[in-house]
Amino acid sequence: MLPTTNIPDAVWIAGKLYCKTPESSSMALEVFSSDFFIDPGVDCDWYARPKTTSIAICMSCNRELDILDARRHGNKCACGEVTCLEVVDGSLVRIVFASNYEAQLQMRSHHWDAISNTFYLHPDPLSSPDRKIADIHRAKSLIQRNKSIFTEVTIDNKQYLAMRVTSNVFVLDADRYVNFSVHFSNLQPFEIFEAWRWAPLPVSINLPARIIYAGNQIPEIDWYYPDDPDWPEDSFEAMGEFVRHFVPQLADEWERQSCGFRHDAPGAIEDITNFCNRRLVTI
Ligand SMILES: [Zn+2]
Repeated sequence: MLPTTNIPDAVWIAGKLYCKTPESSSMALEVFSSDFFIDPGVDCDWYARPKTTSIAICMSCNRELDILDARRHGNKCACGEVTCLEVVDGSLVRIVFASNYEAQLQMRSHHWDAISNTFYLHPDPLSSPDRKIADIHRAKSLIQRNKSIFTEVTIDNKQYLAMRVTSNVFVLDADRYVNFSVHFSNLQPFEIFEAWRWAPLPVSINLPARIIYAGNQIPEIDWYYPDDPDWPEDSFEAMGEFVRHFVPQLADEWERQSCGFRHDAPGAIEDITNFCNRRLVTI
């Protein structure tokens, strides 16, 4: 997945970021430094390499999910499927309140009602040698302090506590139903160009190669085999956008003529080269 974060005065073309002002370069480096290592580039000014992070993939629809969300009890993917349930009658659960991570409750679960987002618990908190778990006295006061989410209910003549799960409550350690898989981040590396150093580009013999690279294609005819597929429409669109932003004197002409360019690699390279060179002669 390529980043698409908006940076003022910068433009994404075919997954590459072109910064039009020194300020936009600085901002891009700052914005992306949290998820990417940013090193000086070889064919570009900066090369952004993703830092390795884990992501979760929904096993029902293959959507990418934040791993913390996916692991969250009762979390639902956008497809409607629950990604994780920390259920199971009788299992020990730890309950953590976002407002106070230090004091946790340990209780026994009864069942989880995913539809109403309610966790049914055996009413008595349990003690534990774990320092983090509140002792019985503190546990009862924690329940009291958070009473807006707890309701006493009777099921089959037995008392339970129904706990409404909100974004401020985490249920940990229960036996889980899991409907996601864990993957490394699929963030792609990308190039950052400080276009303010060279834009606008003059028409020169190097221009066809610059335009073709901008469409993520190789500008050398010898590089291709006869049965290579045609360049996709995306490449031509990216090249057009590059011309519009960085070779403005050719932008209108490109708009008119590029629809006639051949799409097989050698033909496209020849047509783009001729397009630029004709202009070179007439300047
Ligand atoms: Zn899904």
